[in-house]
Amino acid sequence: MLKACGIFTNHIRNMSHNQIYDVIVIGSGLAGLTTSVKLLEGGLKVAVVEKAEKMGGNSIKASSGINGVPTIYQRKDEKDSVEEFYKDTIRSGKGLCVETLAKTLSLDSAKAILWLSEECNVDLSVVARLGGHSFARTHRGSGNLPPGFAIVSTLIKRLQLSESVLVLTQTRFVDFIKNKNEVVGIVAQKENEPVHELRAKNIVLATGGICADLTGPDSMIKRFRPDLLDYPQTNSPLTTGDGQKIAESSLGANLIQMDQIQVHPTGFIQLKGPEQIASKSKFLCGELIRSIGGILLSPLTGKRFVNELTTRDEVTKAVLNSCGEPPVAAIVVSEEDYEKAKSHIGFYMSQLLMFKGTSSDLVEKFKEIIPSLTTLPSAFDAGLSEFNGNIENDHFKRSHFGTVVGETFYFGFITPVLHFSMGGIETNSASQVSTKEGVTLPNVFAIGEVSGGVHGANRLGGSSLLECVVFGTRVAEHILGDAKN
Ligand SMILES: Cc1cc2nc3c(=O)[nH]c(=O)nc-3n(C[C@H](O)[C@H](O)[C@H](O)COP(=O)(O)OP(=O)(O)OC[C@H]3O[C@@H](n4cnc5c(N)ncnc54)[C@H](O)[C@@H]3O)c2cc1C
Repeated sequence: MLKACGIFTNHIRNMSHNQIYDVIVIGSGLAGLTTSVKLLEGGLKVAVVEKAEKMGGNSIKASSGINGVPTIYQRKDEKDSVEEFYKDTIRSGKGLCVETLAKTLSLDSAKAILWLSEECNVDLSVVARLGGHSFARTHRGSGNLPPGFAIVSTLIKRLQLSESVLVLTQTRFVDFIKNKNEVVGIVAQKENEPVHELRAKNIVLATGGICADLTGPDSMIKRFRPDLLDYPQTNSPLTTGDGQKIAESSLGANLIQMDQIQVHPTGFIQLKGPEQIASKSKFLCGELIRSIGGILLSPLTGKRFVNELTTRDEVTKAVLNSCGEPPVAAIVVSEEDYEKAKSHIGFYMSQLLMFKGTSSDLVEKFKEIIPSLTTLPSAFDAGLSEFNGNIENDHFKRSHFGTVVGETFYFGFITPVLHFSMGGIETNSASQVSTKEGVTLPNVFAIGEVSGGVHGANRLGGSSLLECVVFGTRVAEHILGDAKN
């Protein structure tokens, strides 16, 4: 018998082979949590299945924020609108966005921020302008809590308030149960225990992406992007595309745009010895650091080489083309800009991801990564002087900057990393799963990173947390509407 091992052990006594849940939600990142909380608040009985020891997925690591337009936190003098956000999403997606999904994302974004800030009391009062955005619309709190942690921990607390939820952690979803053509439940397994069947009227897949699925015979990166196998990555090691694989093999679900993997330009290199420098698992240097003023300098010249706030794919291309081998750049933040992200940078410094010093200190640290580096501190000083002199007239066409960089500054070292899967399970506008035969499965939904198409070829920063809340809400409303009827 499968045992509940999460926070709801007192509810497991109610569970039996014959129990039918209204909804099984698989995965407890922001997509799964949003749907679960809304379904529970709507009066339904929900089972949450999570293979990790703790809830939260990659969502809990999110550090830059969540997009929303229009909100009361945006500057009144900025003329942002749903239409502008939609246009930025489509432009960034380079013609590959599923337009109906991108429309829903922008249209429902204000409602998502409102729900989190007003109903759930999450502080989202600080707004930043990230790369590829025409306006400042990425929300985070004013305190020390990173936005992913603040949002996810609040929703976990809300989930804990319910009497109608069963949470099974350390429990892996392994298959669907079908009765003729209908999906009637799932098979789940806790390590070293026999498999167990859970039955439900609706199944919501919220199992996240594929960016840590680099090894093994069924590796999705091997299958769809073998050219990326040598890259480091930022995701939890559990991000192995289980939902995509099982939906495809068991239900014939159609997978779309699976080759669209976001290679984020700024994965930190941690200076904790050779093993950490070479590690394939990297901390993300949140895009926020470039948004507050951070600039990138090439080890080959000591100079800037790109508009740091263009879309992520373009910045990555520039790092790969302008920084030599290995492709590493220095990220530099002025002392004044540091004040805008003090808690982020303080954390990064505690982890030996960022440092404070002069160009000589920067070169000394750079040599721990590239021992053969010959570029002198004077070249980095010249690069910084050039930046300081051109701040209002940038030849890379960066539209907004931080402040000039003095003799002493904050710095770290970054390299491109696998970060996000834009592709995934094909869904219709109600997030119902579509099969390769073009059939819509009425009671099987896919939301969050496991689904594909909303971001096209390049996701904008802040739009992944948003996607989880927007489509998590829509699915809950759909199921609640059906239940009412
Ligand atoms: C370091 C980092 C920083 C980020 N910063 C931002 C940001 O600032 N803004 C933004 O918008 N986005 C950000 N992102 C992206 C964003 O956090 C995620 O893409 C998004 O939260 C995905 O949410 P999800 O709910 O779809 O999946 P996840 O949060 O990854 O949750 C999926 C869950 O499913 C579980 N699971 C998987 N397979 C199974 C199985 N077989 N059985 C049971 N459970 C399973 C996993 O263990 C996991 O808990 C960041 C990502 C990372 C890694």
